[in-house]
Amino acid sequence: MDIIEKKVDEFKDDLVKSVQELIRIKSVKSEPKPGMPFGEGTNQALEYMLDLSEKLGFKTKNVDGYAGHAEYGEGEDIVGVLVHLDVVPEGTGWTYPPYGGEIHSGKIYGRGAIDDKGPAAAALYALKALKESGAEMKRRVRIIFGIDEESGWADMDYYLKKEEIPMCGFSPDADFPIINSEKGIIKFKMEKAFTPDNKGIGVEYIKGGLRVNMVPDYCEAKLIIRDKKAGELLKTKYNAFTKNTDNRLELIPESEPDKFIIKAYGISAHGSTPEKGINAVIQLLKFLRTVEGIDSDVFSFISFITEKIGTEVNGESLGIDFEDEISGKLIFNLGVIDFDEKQGMIEINIRYPIKFTCEEVMTKIKEHTSKEGIQITDVSDNPPLYVPEDNFLINKLKKVYTEVTGQKAELISIGGGTYARAIENAVAFGPLFPGKPELAHEKDEYIEIEDLILSTKIYAKALFELASNI
Ligand SMILES: [Zn+2]
Repeated sequence: MDIIEKKVDEFKDDLVKSVQELIRIKSVKSEPKPGMPFGEGTNQALEYMLDLSEKLGFKTKNVDGYAGHAEYGEGEDIVGVLVHLDVVPEGTGWTYPPYGGEIHSGKIYGRGAIDDKGPAAAALYALKALKESGAEMKRRVRIIFGIDEESGWADMDYYLKKEEIPMCGFSPDADFPIINSEKGIIKFKMEKAFTPDNKGIGVEYIKGGLRVNMVPDYCEAKLIIRDKKAGELLKTKYNAFTKNTDNRLELIPESEPDKFIIKAYGISAHGSTPEKGINAVIQLLKFLRTVEGIDSDVFSFISFITEKIGTEVNGESLGIDFEDEISGKLIFNLGVIDFDEKQGMIEINIRYPIKFTCEEVMTKIKEHTSKEGIQITDVSDNPPLYVPEDNFLINKLKKVYTEVTGQKAELISIGGGTYARAIENAVAFGPLFPGKPELAHEKDEYIEIEDLILSTKIYAKALFELASNI
């Protein structure tokens, strides 16, 4: 075994302990405080890692509380490892405490274990192994710690404006072997103003979904019954609809005088894999589409949503079912709905194949919405990532992966987005090995200690290949 791998084995216990300590910091984004743009928890995680980096003998920098880095080596160019220390909320149903960092059967459990605290610590100890191996460097290495990856990427935007930009790098925030293609990600809203009819059925609200990049598992509507006939019609339609579909709906009659609440239940999933979920919003709207007495403005928006979006996950009816041979099909998710009596809004998350552009997608969509008086607002585009197979970075990472694991390093394409797309010549590289369960953002998230050590070896050798003087 070579010296770098041997060094990693020597640090094994320290690495595991650091991952546990990092998991115990609840670094969910919260309200900003002075010097802490993403709240106290994320700031604490950043400070923990910068302290640790210093103890391990690296130069560190805290970039105004937005992000930070640990640096080692000499040279003009920088090789970057982009990691994040913030986590999504823990949710429910955990077997072990989500912020406990407990070890059971060789696995460290906790929110962020695999996404992305384990890999962040792995990258730092990989740099330590490289340092102790005595390798001569021709480039500097920076482990860059972001703390707003799960929300808006305001951390990395700020960091890259203020700091030198790495000439190449990787982000250990997805899967092994190597992800050289990530779809483009668009988020936007569709909005429409309503004028109530003052007869039939009004809509006090329709609410559902928490985040645009999740499939909503719950949606609720409160309807105002303006005349008795409309109330009877609603009940008849409800009975007919629920008899003929699998949609999980619940009607709570006359919760207040002349008001009905309808609840719809779906199954949550990540916005990059909406086919794994059931969209509660669509379930509810499909029913409302059968109730003719609803205010006409609201009804026409509901009709548009059920006809042009419905349960489709590739955007066929909007004419945006784009596809290419590298990254596959466009993925469409309706993540949030918020209607009141005066206006309605839905939030959409689209992941488009690398050979297309945001403009092509949005132009097609606007052909449909403009006819309906629907406004498109708050469009944000995170363009696709694609690093060709013959890029020097891919060759080096392939070589290292095969050396350490004995496995062939296939290139893969994903619909998710990592920091790799924030700089040129960067790919997502690990930490999840092929065939292992995907537990990011789920309950009972863990990292296997054996995989943690193996990935640290891979990262250490990758940094050696990319930064050393050979
Ligand atoms: Zn992540």
